[in-house]
Amino acid sequence: MRSLIFKVMIIGLGLLLIGCSEPENNKNKPGWIDKDRLEHADQEPGSWFTGGRDFGETHFSPLTQITDKNAAQLGFAWQYFTDSHRGLEATPIFVDGVLYVTGNWGMVFAIDGKTGEEIWTFDPEVPGKWARNACCDVVSRGLSVWRGKVYAASLDGRLFALDAANGQVVWQVDTFTDRSIPYTITGAPRIAGKNVVIGNSGAEYGVRGYVTAYDLESGQQSWRFYTVPGDPRKPFEHPELEMASKTWDPDSRWDMGGGGTAWDAMVYDPELNLLYVGTGNGSPWVQAERSPGGGDNLFLSSILAIEADSGRLAWHYQTTPGDNWDYTATQPIILTELEIKGRLRKVLMQAPKNGFFYVLDRVTGELLSAEKYAAVTWASHVDMVTGKPQILPQANYDEEKKLILPSPAGAHNWQPMAYNPHTGLVYIPAMNDPAIYEKRENFQFIKGINNQGAHFSEGTITSEIGDFEAENAGGFLLAWDPVQAKAVWKHRLGNFIFHGGVLTTAGNIVVQARDDGLLVVYAADSGEVLHQIQTGSSILAAPMSYVIDGEQYIAVMAGYGGGPFGYFPVGSAVEKYGNEGRLLAFKLGGGDVPLPEVLPPLGPIPKPPVLVASPENLAEGKMLFAKACSECHWNINGGYPDLRRMSPEVHEAFKDIVLYGQREPLGMAGFSDILSEDQVEAIHSHLIKISHEAYEEQQEQSE
Ligand code: CA
Repeated sequence: MRSLIFKVMIIGLGLLLIGCSEPENNKNKPGWIDKDRLEHADQEPGSWFTGGRDFGETHFSPLTQITDKNAAQLGFAWQYFTDSHRGLEATPIFVDGVLYVTGNWGMVFAIDGKTGEEIWTFDPEVPGKWARNACCDVVSRGLSVWRGKVYAASLDGRLFALDAANGQVVWQVDTFTDRSIPYTITGAPRIAGKNVVIGNSGAEYGVRGYVTAYDLESGQQSWRFYTVPGDPRKPFEHPELEMASKTWDPDSRWDMGGGGTAWDAMVYDPELNLLYVGTGNGSPWVQAERSPGGGDNLFLSSILAIEADSGRLAWHYQTTPGDNWDYTATQPIILTELEIKGRLRKVLMQAPKNGFFYVLDRVTGELLSAEKYAAVTWASHVDMVTGKPQILPQANYDEEKKLILPSPAGAHNWQPMAYNPHTGLVYIPAMNDPAIYEKRENFQFIKGINNQGAHFSEGTITSEIGDFEAENAGGFLLAWDPVQAKAVWKHRLGNFIFHGGVLTTAGNIVVQARDDGLLVVYAADSGEVLHQIQTGSSILAAPMSYVIDGEQYIAVMAGYGGGPFGYFPVGSAVEKYGNEGRLLAFKLGGGDVPLPEVLPPLGPIPKPPVLVASPENLAEGKMLFAKACSECHWNINGGYPDLRRMSPEVHEAFKDIVLYGQREPLGMAGFSDILSEDQVEAIHSHLIKISHEAYEEQQEQSE
């Protein structure tokens, strides 16, 4: 009898445990965002639960304290220094008083939202040599916070679950399939059901794209989805790849990876249990090199809907079949509901690099609209029956170089756009950036560096510019009506193309910062400029908004770098004030932002050493410089050393630095595993040549 009571008690305790799988006291733990809270995000307008606030990642805040009427009173609240001088691209998450955000290399910061004081930081301690594998700076586009843990990834491919209370590592996994291939991670992990999912970066470097899901609690791998097939002579890793491989030449250059990396866009729909993943460009860019027989090359430049539990594909839509232009579809995706032709549709919206704004039914993948939101010369339109773009002859640069819009930087890149349900408009940080694409003759694949198969030619080909007017080149902020599929208002932002991501709020405002350091507040409906604040930083990240103790704040990461390349625009804040990384917060009644000290002028170009090199040697050096060095060293005044200004000591040590990594702690890794001594000498000769050109120009001007 006694044992029976005991058994009943045990069963009772078991039921109690099942019933209370969510103890009430967990909700008081730091970083406790769960399904219930996220689904009712609008009931907590002062929180910012995902990179884009809500599950649809709209970058819209329902807060109404800061409005179009009082925006002029917006000013500085506090700043937090990230101790970095590189690109900062993440949007912070805010929950229960704390901001969580990533910095360079995958550093994580937990910051008091009221004071800007540091609560904890986490440094993944990524070796400096990893900078070499990152095409577009050692950036991170954010993290996820879920049920007391912070999920973040480091540049060198590790995914971490951290305790949100103190930043201690709960678990970590290596997400790379092969560490001999230059993969990186720059995107934010996303919570999808019981998994956390991460994609990888590195498309130009000869990698094969994939996303991997890990169990939230244990870190055990749940599934992996390759975004492009491997060699069809080997077994397919999952059934979707058999279908995809039929769209590739069987004799494709499988050794070059194919590309298709999922380096930014992922959004999860908890209702449909689908994860939407945007995939990247082909590797190399030139299809004639990659898949000589042509084909759509699935799943390059596509939007994939993946079942979050099984990792199986529900549907896919390819924005740029047979991508030849670096037209990634990795740009941020927004989920919402729109009434289209009298019917309420669950939609997915994206403005990928290729210049068309897509609205898809996210249940089925049906294409609802695709219209040009910027200047586009590669395709005339998207056929609504087949869903495919009509590609123009002007886009083919196999035989001769062509001027094409958009450029590989895209008509829109990673900077978040925002959707305001009150105005019904999407605000896009867009650009018109013409580029002359030229196929590389005798393309040579060098594992470990940039292998585009194409390069940009100097000069303009005005006769082939089509309906694009050159004065429209540059960045612009666009308000786009996704139902009517047309532009409503737009502001030109000058000649430079890259500006910040966007925030919009129920206070009828749009907030965007720019390369010249201005944080600008616009009226969301009319586009009127309401207020401008000089921050002293060239800002790329998107602002976000939250409430603490009844006060509304707007916060943004301030640090320049990253895509497309590591050069600093003339007239930018970074050129004047440098690039000290900060998290800046603003509120009504705040003061002026403390501006960094103005940088001293650059000294004269020193006299370069004597040039001893053959024309062949110089040509090779020029080509190798473009492939291995130029994504950082643009040789324009900026944060990366201008190599035309090398001192005699640096010229002397050139081989030790470039080949053997003498300056690896500073982020300049050695290339001895990729380049030979002769190749490094050729690069050096090319640099001596252009140093002489710059030096002579300087001397002529001073006479
Ligand atoms: Ca790319």
